[in-house]
Amino acid sequence: LIEARDVALSFGETPALRGASLAVGAGEVFAVMGPSGSGKSTLLHCLAGILIPDTGEVYFDGRRIDTLNEADRSALRRDAFGFVFQFGQLVPELTAEENVALPLLFSGKRRAAALAEARPWFARLGLDGLERRRSGELSGGQAQRVALARGLVARPRVLFADEPTGALDSLTGEQVMDLMVDAAHEEGTSIVLVTHEPRVAAHADREAIVRDGRATLLTAERIAS
Ligand code: ATP
Ligand code: MG
Repeated sequence: LIEARDVALSFGETPALRGASLAVGAGEVFAVMGPSGSGKSTLLHCLAGILIPDTGEVYFDGRRIDTLNEADRSALRRDAFGFVFQFGQLVPELTAEENVALPLLFSGKRRAAALAEARPWFARLGLDGLERRRSGELSGGQAQRVALARGLVARPRVLFADEPTGALDSLTGEQVMDLMVDAAHEEGTSIVLVTHEPRVAAHADREAIVRDGRATLLTAERIAS
C-alpha cells in the first residue's frame, strides 16, 4: 500500500537516510525500530509526504507521491493519512472532543457533524466522560488516547505513529498500543509505527530495523501489497 524505494535524504551535510526501502501492506501494522538518530522519523516523514527525499521514490496505492506538488501532497495527507506523535500534539485550550474533531473540520465538515462523528471514539477508547475536558487537563495516557482518536477519526488508509507511547509508562503504553492495533485492524487501516521499544514493536505484524539510514526487514510472514 505504501512503499519507499531506495530513499536518501540529507539535512545539509548530515545524511539521515542513505537508500532506505520499505513496503507496508494494506491493513498491516508495521513497526520501524532502530537506534536514536538512525533515520526512523525521517523515513516516516518521507512515507507520509511530509519530507521529499533527495533521491529515491515513494508510492501510495501504486501512485508515486514524492513528485506531487505541495498542494496535492497536503490533500493526500488530509484525505488518506492520520498521525499520532509523542508529545504536544493536542491543542490544550480546546476540549478533548474538539481536538478529535479537528481533522474533520479541516476536511470541510461543519462543527456539529464533526463533533457527532468524534464522540463514538470516546467510548471506544475508554474515554467516556472526558469529551468536554480541556485537553491540557488530561493525564498523559488519556491525552495519547485522544490523540489516537484524532488520528483515526477521519478513517485514514494509513496511520503514521512516531513513538506514540514514548511519553507513557509501560502499562499505559501497552493499553494505548492494544487500542491502536485493534482499531486499525477493525478499520482496515495500515499503521507505520516508529518505536525503539521491542515490547511496543511486538504488537506489529512485521518489523524492520533502521540503521545508519538503511532499513532491513526483520520478519516476513506477510507479503506486502
Ligand atoms: P530518534 O529515535 O532519536 O527519534 P530517529 O531514528 O527518528 O531518532 P531522525 O530524526 O530520523 O532519527 O534523524 C536522523 C538523522 O538526521 C540524525 O542524525 C538527526 O540528527 C538528523 N536530523 C533529523 N532531523 C533534522 C533536521 N530537521 N535538521 C537537521 N538534521 C536533522
Ligand atoms: Mg525519531
